[in-house]
Amino acid sequence: MTDTVNLKGKPHVVVVGCNFGGLTAARFIKEKSGDAIDVTVIDRKPYVVFIPNIPMEVFAGKDPALDLQMQFHQFLKRDGSTFLQAEVKDIDIESKSISIVPTERPGGAIEKVSYDYLVLAVGAKLDYAAIPGFGEYGHTVSDTFYGNKLRRYLFGGEYRGGPIAVGTARFQMGTKGRPDWIPTMTSACEGPPLEISLGLSALLEQRKWGSAKNITLFTQGEWIAEDAGVPLVKEFLHMAVDQMGMTYMNQTEDIKEITKDGIEFTNGKSVEAELKIVLPNWVAHDFIKKLPIVDEVGFVVTDLYMRNPDYPEIMAVGDCAAVTAPKLGGIGDQQARIVAQQIAKDLGKLHEEEQEMKFAPVVMCFGDMGHDKAFYIHSDLIYGGKTGVLKMGHKYFMMKMGFKEMYFALGGKTPGWGIKMTEIVGG
Ligand SMILES: Cc1cc2nc3c(=O)[nH]c(=O)nc-3n(C[C@H](O)[C@H](O)[C@H](O)COP(=O)(O)OP(=O)(O)OC[C@H]3O[C@@H](n4cnc5c(N)ncnc54)[C@H](O)[C@@H]3O)c2cc1C
Repeated sequence: MTDTVNLKGKPHVVVVGCNFGGLTAARFIKEKSGDAIDVTVIDRKPYVVFIPNIPMEVFAGKDPALDLQMQFHQFLKRDGSTFLQAEVKDIDIESKSISIVPTERPGGAIEKVSYDYLVLAVGAKLDYAAIPGFGEYGHTVSDTFYGNKLRRYLFGGEYRGGPIAVGTARFQMGTKGRPDWIPTMTSACEGPPLEISLGLSALLEQRKWGSAKNITLFTQGEWIAEDAGVPLVKEFLHMAVDQMGMTYMNQTEDIKEITKDGIEFTNGKSVEAELKIVLPNWVAHDFIKKLPIVDEVGFVVTDLYMRNPDYPEIMAVGDCAAVTAPKLGGIGDQQARIVAQQIAKDLGKLHEEEQEMKFAPVVMCFGDMGHDKAFYIHSDLIYGGKTGVLKMGHKYFMMKMGFKEMYFALGGKTPGWGIKMTEIVGG
């Protein structure tokens, strides 16, 4: 058994998943609770993929794997945390034990790791397999494999200047334990189609392959990226559709099939397209789905302190948490800080003057627009708030690039004032 808790007698915190949510959680947990705990981090790969910047690397003709994979082992080691490169196969939440298989080489045997606290940060499964025709005719930008496939298609001479469709499949959201101020959303993450359509328009113009007029932007509901708030979406569509000439197709319900000639939707509509760039439904991992801590579709139920109400030693951060809607890395960042605080509080390590944080999401993202410009969205309108900011320009491109550099330099442990500074500088 790979175990540290019984040997040293300290509470053992196991963080499963080490991309955005997991790395930030592991690092702040260690910062807050220090030597009072042992931290083990498990991921099947030893690096973070900086997903938000994949589209812009691809449209610049660059291999996103070269710039966007950040080895995190050194940061965990510096903190005194242990990293296990392994895949989690199963969790026994009654005996507090996790079954893992090493992933560095195939053929490893199952081992068990026990925990006192379990922080789940395993993200979601992006279900391309559920879209008929995707493997043969579909493209996407959600990881470096698919990003490179699209890059080869665009820059290898395959694209012939035909119509392009960009959009998402329908997101199935659970309801169990979800506060009513987090509404049901029909897309897991719809900022990327906005960004892809603008970045691609710039590329088409630069290469003289076409323009924004080649692009149809589609969505299942009334408004694309409704999580940004309808007033902001209307502003975006005014620019993309009325001024740039994109086509907007809404109420598509869901993707039925991708074919050589386009996309067919479940409501009977279809769009003709040579290039089909889609994001799928975000679904829960199979090993999580069967646990008694999840909602109807397998996302981990938590309260606003990111603890499961029935098993408070189990916490969730990022895309795997039911309250994370839309599925945004920025929301996972806030949750990671909350989890670190909760563990420190249990151990009496919270400073008296420190205010206890509670989950209060905002939608915040920077999207590439090509031509060294980006858009910036900062909104809580979807949760009933009053903040709704949409800005565009070179400044926001610099902020997007700057954030990535800061994230890499600091190993995912960005300063708490970062969000405030973004709000102030962003306007
Ligand atoms: C194109 C695109 C652009 C985006 N742009 C933005 C943006 O601008 N801003 C923003 O905030 N968000 C953005 N997002 C969303 C953001 O990428 C996700 O919300 C974020 O990656 C979620 O982080 P996470 O750590 O919860 O999950 P993930 O990033 O999915 O990480 C999960 C980790 O768990 C590991 N894992 C999973 N299962 C197991 C297992 N069984 N055993 C071991 N390890 C496991 C994986 O290897 C992975 O490292 C974008 C998404 C896409 C697709």
